[in-house]
Amino acid sequence: MSRDDFSPEVKDIIARRVGMRCSNPNCRQSTSGPREDPEKVINIGVAAHITAAAKGGPRYNAKLTSRERRSIENAIWLCQNCAKLIDNDPKLYTVDLLQRWKKLSEDAARLAIDSPSVESKTGISDEELIRFFAQCFDRPAFQDPFMQEGSMEAFDKAIEDTITAINTGCLRSRDGTILAQAKGKAFLRKKNWRDRMDAIVDLLRAIRSRYDIARKMKLIHVSEHQDGSSSYSINDPFLAKWMDSTRAQITQMFSEIAKEAGVIPPGFPRPYRSHW
Ligand SMILES: [Zn+2]
Repeated sequence: MSRDDFSPEVKDIIARRVGMRCSNPNCRQSTSGPREDPEKVINIGVAAHITAAAKGGPRYNAKLTSRERRSIENAIWLCQNCAKLIDNDPKLYTVDLLQRWKKLSEDAARLAIDSPSVESKTGISDEELIRFFAQCFDRPAFQDPFMQEGSMEAFDKAIEDTITAINTGCLRSRDGTILAQAKGKAFLRKKNWRDRMDAIVDLLRAIRSRYDIARKMKLIHVSEHQDGSSSYSINDPFLAKWMDSTRAQITQMFSEIAKEAGVIPPGFPRPYRSHW
């Protein structure tokens, strides 16, 4: 069976277009560094196929020509872990999602070299970064009780966007416009704050996976209506409680960091619900 592998040139360009970082916005792992040997580098990144290199592989698209399959458009730079992840669950990691990751990662890399205010010698201060993160938390997904969420999809998307913003420093509105630009949590100089932001992102990811499992186990049931709206029911009394307490833990942790940074923490919970 033939495989449409990428050329070394494609691999090189795809890696450098994203600043040698994993393109999964939840990961953003650096994939390159020095070896003991002063003339060598370590590379833990791979140019992964968005649609598989060979028949039977993940997301294989029979309509593509061999040339298209080998082309740079079909490549995404990932760390080794994320490359395995996307191939283990092609239903979850769709072509569409991977293309969004690629775009997002390239945008983040461009921002990193584009905006002198961010990349100036002194760089962005920890306090400014915390102020940016506070902006990311200032949304209904962190304020309304889980049982009152207007839309489950929007809730999940809001959590995903928050993770992306904290990791990449790029905050977007729902239609994709960039609302604010800063840097990801990896750029915090205070290790203590960095560690706590890592813990917050771990909790945010836990919320997403618990939501995902609940959907798969039909503990959250979404009904689509003819007018395009949807309603849902939650068949697990502990789920809403767990969601609310986990979010409370996140907002509590972040409020403490914000206080230390002299930033006014986002006001949660808010008395009235507004739109997404
Ligand atoms: Zn990764």
